[in-house]
Amino acid sequence: MTGLLVRNARLVPVGIDPTGRTPARATVPDAPLDVRITDGVVSELAPGLLSHGEDELDVAGRFLLPGLWDRHLHWDQWAAALTRIDLAGTTSADDVVARLARILPTLPDDGAAAFGFGHRSALWPRPATVAELDAVSGGRPVVLISGDAHNGWLNSRALELLGLPPRTGVLEEKEWFDILPRLDELTRPGTASQEEAFRDAARKGVVGVVDMEFGGPFLAWPERIAAGERRLKVRAATYPSHLDRAIELGLRTGEALAGGEGLVTMGPLKVISDGSLNTRTAYCAEPYADAAGLAHPRGVLNYAPAELAGLLARAAAAGLDVAVHAIGDAAIANAIDAMVATGARGSIEHAQLLARTDIPRLAAHGIVASMQPAHLLDDRDVTAACWPDRADRCFMTRSLVEAGVTVALGSDAPVSPLDPWLEMAAAVFRSADERDAWNAAEALTPAQALACSTDGRGTVGIGSPADLAVVETDPTALDATAPRAAAAALRETRVALTIVDGRITHLAL
Ligand SMILES: [Zn+2]
Repeated sequence: MTGLLVRNARLVPVGIDPTGRTPARATVPDAPLDVRITDGVVSELAPGLLSHGEDELDVAGRFLLPGLWDRHLHWDQWAAALTRIDLAGTTSADDVVARLARILPTLPDDGAAAFGFGHRSALWPRPATVAELDAVSGGRPVVLISGDAHNGWLNSRALELLGLPPRTGVLEEKEWFDILPRLDELTRPGTASQEEAFRDAARKGVVGVVDMEFGGPFLAWPERIAAGERRLKVRAATYPSHLDRAIELGLRTGEALAGGEGLVTMGPLKVISDGSLNTRTAYCAEPYADAAGLAHPRGVLNYAPAELAGLLARAAAAGLDVAVHAIGDAAIANAIDAMVATGARGSIEHAQLLARTDIPRLAAHGIVASMQPAHLLDDRDVTAACWPDRADRCFMTRSLVEAGVTVALGSDAPVSPLDPWLEMAAAVFRSADERDAWNAAEALTPAQALACSTDGRGTVGIGSPADLAVVETDPTALDATAPRAAAAALRETRVALTIVDGRITHLAL
């Protein structure tokens, strides 16, 4: 295998101990070093390395980190969302057409349909026409889905590809709902949206993801790799619907999936044990503050405790870790009970509202808290309405890391964008606007937030996997006592170089 020599990189101290402490700057050399990468691993790290004839890159004193991981996302949904044209806020058919005229020429034209979403036509001065859409889209199929998803505005090419007769206006209700499940016929896997998602991830220094996509991501990823994709490491989950299949195939968490070229390993069994805050279905020890009229004042468990334990026991016996979605405090307590009782290893996904007494239990049993700090930006005001009496127990990142719990950050993209810098920023300064931080006592320092974003990898050293990022500014040097400014700097961090398995996936020196 070919190697790579990265010259003049400054090491960033990365890590976190069981009291939440991060390594001091003095633990890494001040001067830039050369980094030799051989067979996907850092093989040498010293100043002035001799060339072995490999490719060389001089990063001129920029900062070297272990590459970033997103520990919870839905890859296909994220890829689709990333290239969907946002039509929210448009006020007329003319307005939509004008927006498309600007955006369509900037999209790669690979034969796949362009999708738009979010217009609300109820108050438009006149109905939309197929002809005006054709006029700006030419031969490219275009599908525009209204914000309430109750109508579809398709151009002639899209209608033709779906075998529908020519028409003058939009498709509505029954006629539209019959077409909706067939829209994926207009996209081809591995085309524009996927390509943009891979590029975007590499630009942000992302080297790996845990894909919790519905269906069978453990079946989809080896196909992508077989088609030549090499830009991410992936742990691919399964859901209970595909558990039999995974067990039948003998897939065990952590083992390489056949055809994955070492990049794709089997992930956990994902189980959605309760609901969500916004729908008032996250399962809580106490009723929601605005429970009046709710059918389930404390939220809902999707599996009875014995049923959940049964699923986890099957997973554990088959060598599969578990990733239990639990947002409410009672759901989390229940999930911990089931993991302890069955010996299942793995994570609580979201861990949004926690009983303080469960923090030491997570630590004692080595259960990971897989959390999405960017969600707290959206959930702040909803929490004030639903859980005003327990808001101090929401997104308890600081308490968790200081109690020795492994906190792993992620996005749950498309719920928040695949952007570890945004997640770190939200963990450091818990506000999306002019308001002060929400529960500032639970904020992480920039160094802690970084250590929770590298899949457990510490300061780059000899033997580190060559999944690396080089950035323009050192995130651990940001002032933790000025969190608003630190968060702004994190969000704006520029990534100069991303390397996955020894291969360059992004270069902007
Ligand atoms: Zn999710």
